[in-house]
Order: sequence, then C-alpha cells, then structure tokens
Amino acid sequence: MTKKLYLETFGCQMNVLDSELVLGQLRAQGYESVEEREEADVVIYNTCSVREHAEQKVWSRLGEMRDWKKTRPGTVIGVIGCMAERDGKDIFRKFPHVDLLCGPGELDKLAGMVHNLVVTGTEARRHEGTKGRQVALMGANMRRSSTLAAAEDHLELLDLSRSISAEDNLAQAYVRITRGCNKFCTYCVVPYTRGPEVHRPPQNIIDEVKRLSDAGALEVTLLGQTINHYAFKHGDGRVTTFAELLYQIHEAVPGLPRLRFVTSFPRDFTNEALMVMRDCQRICRYLHVPAQSGSDRILKAMNRGYTAQEYYDFVGRAREYMPDVSIASDFIVGFPTETQDDFDQTAEMVRRCRFKNSFIFKYSPRPGTVAIERFEDDVPEETKRRWNNELLAVQQEACVRNNREMVGKVVEVMIEGETKLVSKKAYPASAGGVELGWEKRGGENGSDGASPATVVTQLIGRTRGDQVVAIDAPMGMRGRIVDVEITEAKNLTLFGKLVMSAVAG
Ligand code: SAM
Ligand code: SF4
Repeated sequence: MTKKLYLETFGCQMNVLDSELVLGQLRAQGYESVEEREEADVVIYNTCSVREHAEQKVWSRLGEMRDWKKTRPGTVIGVIGCMAERDGKDIFRKFPHVDLLCGPGELDKLAGMVHNLVVTGTEARRHEGTKGRQVALMGANMRRSSTLAAAEDHLELLDLSRSISAEDNLAQAYVRITRGCNKFCTYCVVPYTRGPEVHRPPQNIIDEVKRLSDAGALEVTLLGQTINHYAFKHGDGRVTTFAELLYQIHEAVPGLPRLRFVTSFPRDFTNEALMVMRDCQRICRYLHVPAQSGSDRILKAMNRGYTAQEYYDFVGRAREYMPDVSIASDFIVGFPTETQDDFDQTAEMVRRCRFKNSFIFKYSPRPGTVAIERFEDDVPEETKRRWNNELLAVQQEACVRNNREMVGKVVEVMIEGETKLVSKKAYPASAGGVELGWEKRGGENGSDGASPATVVTQLIGRTRGDQVVAIDAPMGMRGRIVDVEITEAKNLTLFGKLVMSAVAG
C-alpha cells in the first residue's frame, strides 16, 4: 500500500529547496504527500535554528505529537535540517517518540533511512512498551574537517536527483549553487549546521536550470549563503567565478525570462558580476545584501569583515552600474553591547540606502555560536522591540517614497497568486464593464461559477526588482509574466492595471 507523507518546512529558501528534493526522492520510492498530518504514516519537520523563535515552533509541534504517537505507534516521526544537526541528542532525550534525525549535510540518505524505518521498525513499534529504533545522521562538522570539493561531496547527489516535470507546473524554482558557509559571523549557527562552503560544478547548475526552463519555469532563483563568493575550481586549475557562472547560465538558457540570486555578501562583489547583471537582460536587477548593522563597532563584534563605509561604497557602486537596481537588506537589532548611538547609525544607513525592503530581526542568542560565549545578551527585550519598530518605520518611509516614484511606470510583473477578492465587473473596464464591487471568491473558477476569463480578481505579482504589485485582472493568470501600469501607491502596496501580455504563460 502507498505510504503517506506529511512534510512541514520552517526557515529559509535553502530549506524549501531541501524539502522539495527529499520529497522528490521519497515520491520516487512510492510515498504520496498529504496536506493533513493526521493522515500520514510518516511525519517530517524540516527545521531552522537561526533564531530561537523558529525552534520553538518545532518544539511545540513535537510536543503535540507525544500523545498522538501513543495511539498510532506505527507512525514514523522525523526531524531534519538545522535543529537535527544542532540539537540532536536533546531532541531524542526530550521527545523519545521521535524516530529519526537527519542533518542538512546528510539529506541524500534520508529516503533510505525513512524507508528502513517504515519497513523494519513499524512492527517493533507496534508492540506496546517497545520504543522502536531511533536513527540519527549528522555530520556538518565532520564535513568541515576535511577539504571538501563538490566532486567528492555526496550531497551533490541530492541536487542531481531532482525530478523535474512539466506536470508540476512550476513557474518559479530554486537552484542551489553553493552549500554551507565559511564566514562565521559571531551570532550565526549556519556554518555549524550546514558545514563548509562547497561550490557545485557549473555544468551541473546549468543543466538543472535548463531542465527547469524546458519544463516551463519562468523564474529561477540561484541560492547560496554568500552567493557572490561562488568560485568553482576545475580539475585543470581553472576557476569559474560567480560573474562567469551568471553569464554562462544566461547564455545557455535563452528561454528563461527571469534569473535571480540570493544572498549576496557586501564584500567581494566584483565589478565583473555587476557588469554581467547590467548587460544580461534576463538577469533581474535585484540584490539582497544584508548589512546587519550601520555601526562599525557592532559590525566588528559580529565579525562581518566590512565597515559601514564599505557597505555604502558597495551600494553606490551597484547603483553606478545599474541606477534602477533594487536593493534589500537584513538587520539585527539589540546585538550585545549595542547602544543608542550604534542603533542611530543603523537607522541612518536604512535612511540613506533607500532599500526596497529590510528584514529586521531582534538578536537571538544561539547556543554554539561565538557571540553567546563572548557576550552577555545585555540589551533589554523592551529596547530590542522598540528599535525593531523604529527601524521598521524608517524602512516604511523609504518604501512609501520608492513606491510613489513607480506610479505611471509600466513594469513587467510575474503573477504569483490571487487574493481572496473578486469583482463581478466584466473585463476590461474600458469595454464598458460595470463595477459591482469586490466580494469574497466563491468556487474554484470564480464567483457564482462564472468563467475565469470574465471574472476579475485581485492578483499579486512581483516586478523584476522584487516589488509586490496588486493587479485587477482575469483569474487563471497565475504563473504568467505580464506588463502592468502602476496606477497607485498606497503606503506599502503598489496597484496596477494590465497593459498587455509580455510572455505567454
Ligand atoms: N548568509 C546571509 C548573510 O550573511 O547575509 C544570511 C543568512 S541568515 C540564515 C538570515 C538572516 O538571519 C541574517 O541575515 C541575519 O540578519 C538573521 N540572523 C542570523 N542569526 C541571527 C541571530 N542569532 N539573531 C537574529 N537574527 C539572526
Ligand atoms: Fe550566517 Fe554570516 Fe554565513 Fe550569513 S554569512 S550564513 S550570517 S555566518
């Protein structure tokens, strides 16, 4: 009988991609994914350890499953990803009903582990009083202790195993180019949970992007923790740089309308890479370059390896090459020893750089990091919260100004989804449509069972610069790239109307 699998993902895009890859492997072994945990024979949580809050959600899920497992001892419960790597022993100790742990560096073996547990462990767990076998695979730090090249990295097999099919109807997809991280920012668990930086062979990456594009993907986002550090050393000593890789993908996959990448590190972003972005039309002019702080003293305590001035210089250089480039950033507020003066410098940076958006986080001390050993978490929670809100407000002012400047422009938007609102107005309004107001959508096809082509809905899409736009357009346009005239900017949201179809979806 087909076994049912429930997989829930927490955290970053890397985790989303890992989940997609392990799901593909388990499906190939005959597992079917289900939306409800209650229906599953195998329940897996793909976890994140970057902040405590993300971990707490998983603790609570595992707690909920304690009683559940008593009534269904045959169910296999697994924890994969960063928490499995970091907290392994603690998870088994606190939650003996968990059967399986697998760190991010061992996910190529997950399908085999799950299958073994299902086949061999179920009987044992059925007998009352028998806990069944617990299995664990972690190894990011072992991976770090050797000099690892992608060719000898077994994890490459996971990415190579990706099943890509036109039936999946995937308009957007992620492709990993680099695993792990070598930066060791003092607050961050990633180098410990994901191991050392390993760059994938360029041809494997190009082939994967090509296969995705052939299967109908319209936007591919390349992933890496410090993506601009990509440098693949070939056997003959040649090195493929990040700029070269970007160019090669762009040229090798002419049918792909949008190529993006995240996340960039503010140092070591070469002019060559900026030139490739400027000159290759289908590479989106969008940079996510976390600054973390605007204070040199805090940047040093974070071990970021650059000063605020060097960050400003990078932003200036990027805008020199591409005046229309859209830049996003991350900031941590309340890092140990941070003063009002340090915070004011961060606020000044957000003001001056006019980011498209900023992801703002309150410092969360993480076990195993240098910061938790070296510093006391001495900024009161109340101050962290206040700085978080103040920085958000500064960023919002920038968003409002950026958005106002967009009004009247025609931009290319990729439709990502539909809001729950529909209008019964016939489309287009210029053809004499009568406005009947907005209402909640009824059936799948639209309000009152009308055809998707005649029901106008509010669609949500993204520009090449990653700005979100709400558009009134016919339903059923998800996954299409269209031209949109921006008609209004209401605080943080842009509104637009459809001009014409730019690319057939
Ligand atoms: N590699 C990316 C970089 O360095 O720019 C970021 C990766 S990290 C998973 C995503 C974001 O989480 C970071 O940019 C940082 O702002 C935030 N972060 C990481 N560790 C944190 C911590 N201990 N407390 C609060 N925020 C944290
Ligand atoms: Fe973490 Fe720093 Fe690496 Fe980003 S660059 S993943 S913040 S250690």
